[in-house]
Amino acid sequence: MTEHTPKKLFIKTYGCQMNVYDSDRMADALAPHGYEPTHDMADADLVVLNTCHIREKASEKVFSELGRLRDLREERRASGHELMIGVAGCVAQAEGDEIVRRAPAVDLVFGPQSYHRLPELIARAHNGAKVVDTDFPQEDKFEHLPAAKREVTLARGLTAFLTVQEGCDKFCSFCVVPYTRGTEVSRPVEQVLREARNLADAGVRELTLLGQNVNAYHGLDVRGRTVGLGELCYRLSLIPGIARIRYTTSHPLDMTDELIEAHRDLDALMPYLHLPIQSGSDRILKAMNRRHSRADYMSVIERIMAARPDMALSGDFIVGFPGETDADFEETLQVARDVGYASAYTFRYSIRPGTPGAGMPDQVAEPVKAERLARLNALITTQMRDFGISVVGRILPVLIEKAGRMPGQVGGRSPYLQAVHMEGSTRLIGQIVPVEIVAAGNNSLTGKIVTDVEPNSASVIESQAMATHI
Ligand code: SAM
Ligand code: SF4
Repeated sequence: MTEHTPKKLFIKTYGCQMNVYDSDRMADALAPHGYEPTHDMADADLVVLNTCHIREKASEKVFSELGRLRDLREERRASGHELMIGVAGCVAQAEGDEIVRRAPAVDLVFGPQSYHRLPELIARAHNGAKVVDTDFPQEDKFEHLPAAKREVTLARGLTAFLTVQEGCDKFCSFCVVPYTRGTEVSRPVEQVLREARNLADAGVRELTLLGQNVNAYHGLDVRGRTVGLGELCYRLSLIPGIARIRYTTSHPLDMTDELIEAHRDLDALMPYLHLPIQSGSDRILKAMNRRHSRADYMSVIERIMAARPDMALSGDFIVGFPGETDADFEETLQVARDVGYASAYTFRYSIRPGTPGAGMPDQVAEPVKAERLARLNALITTQMRDFGISVVGRILPVLIEKAGRMPGQVGGRSPYLQAVHMEGSTRLIGQIVPVEIVAAGNNSLTGKIVTDVEPNSASVIESQAMATHI
C-alpha cells in the first residue's frame, strides 16, 4: 500500500443495486490512495455522484445536486480547501462532455467501465485537466479493481452484492441500459468464486448476484466451459459460510431449465424471484420489444412454481408506454391479479432520448399515466399486505443481520426478503434461526424466535433447510 495524506471521499449513489456495488468498488479502488469514506459531504475532498439514467427524474436530480455542490465548492475555497467533483455511472456514460458544459464545476466524468482507472483520472484532474472518460475499454476492470479489506467488508454487513454480469443485448424499446452499460458481458466463474470466497471469509452469509440481465449469465470456467447462472449458484453454495443466494434482475426469456432446477434443488437459493413483465398486454409487449408474450411469462411462472411451490414473486411494471390504451392497462392489472405479487416496482413511462420509444407516436398524457399508476399501486400495495399476512403463524428461517432499534431486539430477513423484527440477543447476528411470525405490518414482520440457538451451532443451518420447506 502507498502512503498518502488521508483524504475524505463522499460517494452519493443513485439508482439500482449495481450502482451500490460499483460505489463500494470505487471506494476500494481509492482506499490504497489514502481516501477514507466520510458520511458528511461538507467534509469531503472528493465527491462522486454515482448516477442513474433510467428515468428522466433520476438524471435531472444529478444536475440539481451539482448546483448545490458548486456552492459547496465556493464555500470550501473561501476557507482555503479544495473540493474535487466527479460524476460516475450511467448519466456520465450517456452525457459525457455535456455534463462539463452544463455544470462547469465538475472536474471528472467517467463511465461504469472506467472505475479501475479512477486513481489515474483523479491525478489528471489534479493537474487542472477536465477529465472525461466514457470508453468501453478492452481490459477487464474487475481484474484491476482491488478487493476490499476484510474489516471494510465486515463493516458493510452480512449481506453483500456481487456483480456477475453487466450490460444488456435485449434492447427493450423504452430502456437506456444497452446504450449506457453496453453489450452483455459475464465475469469468469473463477473471478466470481474468488470474490465470493473473500466475502465469505470476512463473514458475509448472503450474496445477491447482480446483473442488468443476470440470468443471461454465461461465464467461462477454468476449463473454458460456459457456465450458466444455475450452475454458478451451485458452485457458490459450496463456499463455506455462504448460506443464502439471491439474484436480480432477470428477464423471463432467460429463465433456463437449469436455473429453475437449481431453485428446486438448492436450499441456499432463496425462494424469492424478481421477474419483470412490464405490461400485461401482448400488443404493448411487442411495441416494447420484450420478445415475450403474456402467455410466455405465465408459462415461465408455472415452471418455476412447479419446481419451487413456495416461490414469492416480484416484478416491474411500466404504465403509459406509447400507445397504451385503457384496455391494455386493464390487461396489466389482470396479469398482476393472476400472478399475485409479493412485491413489485411500478413506474410511469419516462421518455429516454435515443431509445426507440422516444420517437413513437401516441405518447400517453401525464395525467393518464398518473391515474393508471395510482390504480396499479393500490393493487400492488394490497398484494404486498396480503403476502405479509400470509406468513403470519408460519415458522421461517430468518438471517439475523443487526441489532434492532430497541434494546434487546434484533432485525433480519425472511427467505422472501421481508424485514423481520424480534426480541433476541445480538450474539445471534450472522445466524439463521427459526422464527415464528406473529404479526405483519406495512413494511415489516414481527417474529418470535422459536429456539434460541447457540452461535456457530451446526443445527442453525439444518433448521434453515427444514423451515424453508414448511
Ligand atoms: N433488465 C431488467 C428487465 O428486463 O426487467 C430491468 C432493468 S431496468 C434497470 C429496471 C426497471 O426500470 C425496468 O424493469 C423497467 O420497469 C424500468 N424502466 C426502464 N426504462 C424505463 C423508462 N424509460 N421509463 C420507466 N421505467 C423504465
Ligand atoms: Fe433494459 Fe432489462 Fe430490457 Fe435490457 S432487458 S433493455 S436492461 S429492460
